[in-house]
Amino acid sequence: MRKHVVTETLSCACGSVALTVDGPVLSMLICSCRDCRKATGTGHSAVALMPGVAVAISGDTQSHTRLAESGSEIARHFCPRCGTPLFARTARAPDLLLLPVGLFDEPDWFSPNQAIFSRSHLDWDALDPTLPQYDTYRDNGGF
Ligand SMILES: [Zn+2]
Ligand SMILES: [Zn+2]
Repeated sequence: MRKHVVTETLSCACGSVALTVDGPVLSMLICSCRDCRKATGTGHSAVALMPGVAVAISGDTQSHTRLAESGSEIARHFCPRCGTPLFARTARAPDLLLLPVGLFDEPDWFSPNQAIFSRSHLDWDALDPTLPQYDTYRDNGGF
């Protein structure tokens, strides 16, 4: 798959925090784990995985760290003023950032390559049936 390169400045709803991204999107996923459901308030998250070095963060964020279903810790960062979810970092891959696709202005390039944690996927939350689905993570354990 050709890597899509994004060069864009993203901001939270109130403008207190900006993320300047300049780099390749390494993977695009849909995740239906219970943690993502809670974090997004709906059936699944839509996430772009990027190298941490490709993202410069300005402004203060707050984070909440918890054990994900994988058994690894995941830290979810959000704007302390408006609550917009900004990025997450998992201990499974500390050099990478998980960016919610809704944060980008025009994420037409988003084309998920996998749906993970289908074991907790909800039937009313329709997904593209051609998308490879995995009970938890992709069989090779990678992203
Ligand atoms: Zn904000
Ligand atoms: Zn998830």
